[in-house]
Formats: sequence, C-alpha cells, structure tokens
Amino acid sequence: MYTRRFLQLGLLFIVASVAFAQTDPSASRLQQHVSYLASDALDGRRTGTAGANDAARYIAGEFARLGLKPAAAGPATRRGSRIMARYLQQFPYVAGIELGQQNAFLIGGTQRLTVREEWMPLSFSTNASVSGSIVFVGFGIKAPELNHDDYQGVPVSGNIALALAGTPDSDNPHGKFFRYVDVHLKAIAARDAGAKALLLITNEPDFKKALLARLEVDLLGGDVRLPVATVSQQALAKLAPQLTLSELQQLASAKQQSTLKPVAGPFTLTTELVRKEVPAYNVVGVLEGSDRLLKNETIVIGAHYDHLGRGGSGSLAPRSGEIHHGADDNASGTAGVLELARVLTEQRPRPKRTIVFIAFGGEEEGLLGSNYYVNHPATPLNSVVAMINMDMIGRMKDRKLVIGGVGTAKEWRDIIAQGTADPARKFELTLNEDGFGPSDHSSFYGKEIPVLFFWTGTHNDYHKPTDTWEKINYQDQTRILNLVSYIVRHLDSADKRVTYTKAKTDPAPRTGGFRVYLGTIPNYADSNDGLLIDGVRDDSPASKAGLKAGDRIVKIGTREVKNVYDYTYALGEMKAGEEYVIEIIRGTDRLTLKITPIQR
Ligand SMILES: [Zn+2]
Repeated sequence: MYTRRFLQLGLLFIVASVAFAQTDPSASRLQQHVSYLASDALDGRRTGTAGANDAARYIAGEFARLGLKPAAAGPATRRGSRIMARYLQQFPYVAGIELGQQNAFLIGGTQRLTVREEWMPLSFSTNASVSGSIVFVGFGIKAPELNHDDYQGVPVSGNIALALAGTPDSDNPHGKFFRYVDVHLKAIAARDAGAKALLLITNEPDFKKALLARLEVDLLGGDVRLPVATVSQQALAKLAPQLTLSELQQLASAKQQSTLKPVAGPFTLTTELVRKEVPAYNVVGVLEGSDRLLKNETIVIGAHYDHLGRGGSGSLAPRSGEIHHGADDNASGTAGVLELARVLTEQRPRPKRTIVFIAFGGEEEGLLGSNYYVNHPATPLNSVVAMINMDMIGRMKDRKLVIGGVGTAKEWRDIIAQGTADPARKFELTLNEDGFGPSDHSSFYGKEIPVLFFWTGTHNDYHKPTDTWEKINYQDQTRILNLVSYIVRHLDSADKRVTYTKAKTDPAPRTGGFRVYLGTIPNYADSNDGLLIDGVRDDSPASKAGLKAGDRIVKIGTREVKNVYDYTYALGEMKAGEEYVIEIIRGTDRLTLKITPIQR
C-alpha cells in the first residue's frame, strides 16, 4: 500500500515535471550549428551551389531528428535519405550564364571580331541575329527631364546603335546624369528608338579588365528584348576605320553625333547566351499544433541560410575568390531557427498552434526563397498569425537589439514590453515600425501578415570573408532566442490572433538617384508580363492610388511596362506632382488608376 502510494506520488511528480517542461536555448548548440554552417566545407553557401545544398541537407537532418513533419514534396536526391529530401522546397534559380556556340560579329561579310577578345554580349542581352549599318548615338542617353536626347536627328531605326559607355559628366556620382550610367536604361532607350541592337564601347582601354565585358548573372533576371553587346576600344578601328575614339567623345560631348553618316558595313551581330538554371531550396519543417482547432493557425519562424559563396555580386570584399563565411549573416539566424525548433518541440504542454520553421535560400539574391514560399506556402497564408525573421543576430554588443516590424500588429509593442520586463531578456532596444526591409520578413508583410524582424546590427565584417564563427556572441544570442520564444509562446497561448496593421514606413532607401518616389515594392524574381508588386508602402503615392500587393503594373503613362527594366525607365521619366495614368492587372481585371509621384 505504502509502496503503491509512493509510486503513484512519484508518477504524479514525473507527469507534472513533464507537463511544464521549458527548455532553454543553448549557447554551445548554437556554436555547433554556426561553426559548421560557416565552415570552409560549405564554401560560403551561395544559392545553387553544392555548399548551399549541403547546408540545406544539414538543416533538414536537424528537422528530421527533432521529429518535425516535412512540408514539401521534395526531389529525390542522390545523397541523403528520401525522407530528408521531403523537407526541401525546391524553387527555380538562374545560377550562371554562359556564351552559347552561335556568337558572331561579321563586318562586311569578310572580317570578324572575336568574342571575348574584342566584343562580348551583356548578360541581359536577347539571343538574336541582326544586320544593319552602325549609327553613332553619343552616350545613348535619353533623359527628357534633363532635356537631353542623344537619339535626336540620328537615323538609328533599323540600324545598330553604337554608344559610349558612361555619361557626359564622366560618371560623377553627384552629376545630374548619374543614373544614366545604367546600361539597362541605355538598352531601353535604344530599343525604343527602333535600333536593332546596341553596342557599347568600354571606358576601359584593356578589354580584359572591362567590367562590361564580364559575363555575370543579372540580378534583375530576364532579358531586355534587344541584343546588347560591349566592344573594345581597339575594335573600333575595325568597325569604323575613319573614326577615332577621341573624335567620338568630342562629338558626343557636343551632342553633334547627328552630323556623322552611318557606317555602312553591313554588320551582322549574332548573340547567344545560355542561362543555367539550377535547383535551389528552402528547408521547411512543421511542428503540428496540439489543439484541435487552434492547430489550424500557424506561426512562422524563419531565417535565410544562404550567403555569398566566394564573393561576386553582393560582396564588400576588395577582391572576390575568398570564402565568405557568413557566420553572422546568416548562420546565426539559421542556428536560431534550429534551436527554437528544439526548444519548442521539447516544450510541455505542447504548443497549441502549428509552428512552421523555415530556412530560406536565395535571400542574398533578392529574397527569392521567401518570395517563392509565400506563393507556395506549406500552410494557407490566411492561417499565418505572424512571421518572425532572424537575420544577423550574432553580434550583439552592449545588449543592443533592433526589432523591426513593430508597426505591423497592434499588440507588438505591448508583447515586446512584457517580454523584456524580465531582467534575463533586457535589451537596449531600437524599435522600427516598418514591415518591409532588406530581409525575408518583407515577403510575408507584403502578404499582409504581421512580422517581427530581429537584428543585432551591421559591423566591419558584414558581407566580407571575415564574418567568421568565432566572432559570434553566442551567450547574448541565447538571450535573443529567449525573447523570441517568449513572443512565440505568447502568440501561441493567446485566445486571439494579433491584429494586422499597416505600418508606418521608414524613410525609403534611395536607389539610383531617382527624383520621384512611388512607394511600390517590386518583385525582382518575376519578369516579362508586367511588373508584379509585392507590397505598397504606407501613405505613399502608390497606396493613395489604390495599388495593392499582387497587382501587376502593365503601363505607366504611355509606357508599356513588361518588366522591372521598363518600370525603372518609366520611373526615371516621371515628374513629381504630376498625375499619371497607371494600368494594372488585378486577378483577371485590367484596371486604370491615377498616381501622382512625390519628390524624393
Ligand atoms: Zn547578407
């Protein structure tokens, strides 16, 4: 009897301790994850590379070990078990661009220029073969607001346009022509003037060193619907023996290119680029809710695991080639997702709502993974109570922590205040209202989901090879994760969801010297049948015009908008304070709205 009673008591005690189990995030586990993800073995985790895919498999392995449910019908991979592959959500990604077999540049049918040595197609060039005379178009700039049109009086239609790289003010970043350095804008100006192709003479005398002659993946994706190539300064002597570079420069500066006769040639330009698409992955694991009803609501916890590989686009290192370890950016956030997955899986009683853990790929290339996810979600988007993003949470100093997105739900400030009342979770907080920003929460906020974004700020190793694992402040990182798990438990145990609110916008980042501002968040992953809008900044011209996330802009004023290039160009032509008609596709409807851009 006694024995039995004792046993019962013991049993009760065990049950009780299990019933309220609360695991804490562990600094040593964080260090384990970060030191592997940021190791040389993963080669900087550039999306689409073996290193990034190894990282994805590692994360999938951890999800499997914790017993999370796989969310995706992943591909069968050679390495790793098939079960692990089911955590991988595949999305398309252009990893590389190469010259095809057909590239040729013929002069008068006899002489030819050698590709790579004397000329090179640009990465956003269309594949095509065109013939015609060459017409010199100065800098190839059309800037109505500056009263500058290099195409005026020049018979370029049906011919091949030849322009100088750069601008009349020598690429001065404070010069009024600065944004017209952009070769995309030059290509659009040439296309609109009826040119069959555009050739750009490099500024750099040594063609091998010319930036334009490097074939790199264009982050904007797609092509510009015109063959565009760069030619060396030396090749000019073969194209137009009667002209020198300095003569052309003088004519362009004096805007006297229309005095030149076309060079008859005939010239035949054939461009062929092969865009190499490779699979890339998000890793998605689901902890199903324990409450019969509330499990239909979802809390998303995410962080991107990809980084910059060995440099190249996005790198701030003086030269590329070295491994960019990305310990803070964003092995730290990824380790955070893994630790929170462990803590929340071990928590008793189990969470009522469903928690979806996501490690995103393609963030550094423009939020590609999160963008794909919100359009192919594991649980319906309207079930998502909130999304919490961690990007660079490993360099805490003096307890300084930035939390973004606090304007995206009415309750956020209160919840954060309660969470940080505990001395173990006290921080020097900077709270930002905006739900948009340069990381994956932006994709969710664009779908009107409340978001929070955790960040310990930038530092000297940001986007450089020196962002290494031993510089991470693991101890303080556990404090951040304690706060995040407090917030998640708060969201999970509440009767009601937090209330989505449209956040006040932080001052918009200045890009490319535009003088006008619309307040749209363009979708860079998408192209060629209009410009898809991921979101609209609060209180902006776009929101006043009635534009919404998911709208596709197809026309601004008289300009057709097929893709982000056209959009950028149209933006450059707009004047602040003037009203423009803007045509959009919303669902199956074509709507006409009116928008008035404001001064930057
Ligand atoms: Zn980054």
